[in-house]
Amino acid sequence: MMPVASVTLTPSMTAPSQPDSPIASPDAAPTGAAAVAGSASADLVQDVADANRILFHQGVVDAFGHVSARHDKDPTRFLLARNIAPALVTAADILEFALDGEPACPDARRVYLERFIHAAIYRARPDVHAVVHSHSPAVVPFSVVRSAGLRPVSHMCGFLGAGPPIFEIRDCVGDESDLLIRDNALGDALARTLGDGNVVLMRGHGATAVGPSLKIAVYRAVYTEVNARLLADALRLGPVEYLSPGEAHMTMTVNEGQVDRPWAMWKAAARRAL
Ligand code: MN
Repeated sequence: MMPVASVTLTPSMTAPSQPDSPIASPDAAPTGAAAVAGSASADLVQDVADANRILFHQGVVDAFGHVSARHDKDPTRFLLARNIAPALVTAADILEFALDGEPACPDARRVYLERFIHAAIYRARPDVHAVVHSHSPAVVPFSVVRSAGLRPVSHMCGFLGAGPPIFEIRDCVGDESDLLIRDNALGDALARTLGDGNVVLMRGHGATAVGPSLKIAVYRAVYTEVNARLLADALRLGPVEYLSPGEAHMTMTVNEGQVDRPWAMWKAAARRAL
């Protein structure tokens, strides 16, 4: 762990009175101490907390949105914060969930309504080890203008491939829903639209990015937002030359092999900012 990690550690993380509960917080309910992700590696729990702060600092999430990681020792579980704004998440806020989307252990703390996004994708995609759901502001316009097509225009965004599919919730629940993925049936429908892709747009709502690691999922979420800004600018200038399928594949392979570099910078910047 980097030296700067100490700035985000809660007193309880080093408190000798709680040696078996290294990520419990002083304000956690007594029943909550057993529900935190105690069996996952402390590094992964801290990375999930850092991912929340990074995504806020990079402008991908605001008070809403969330990021999860598949449990590193039990693939039938995943780690996700309690119901809290991403910028405020610390390791003590990370809970463990089962693949039905419910907390793996009893806990009095509120959980995210849209946790079924994560659960359904982990059920459908064994290769996925992290999920980011956001209302990424530059991306939302591309969820409502189907003809605009969020195809990659920068070599940093090759993971967008031929352009993400758009999930239309009206196909599932008609035209009077709140647009939220509030149960497993909607989660499964979203996962079907995602298919074997890296990103799915959600009409009038946002986007969900996935990856084989937490760092890559965060990278994809950040650069989906970047590509949306670049493409919106390019479309104002004239006809757009997109990355070819071969270029998209090659640039994805090269850039995602270097994901440690942006992760380290984003993490340091996010920790300094808060
Ligand atoms: Mn949402």
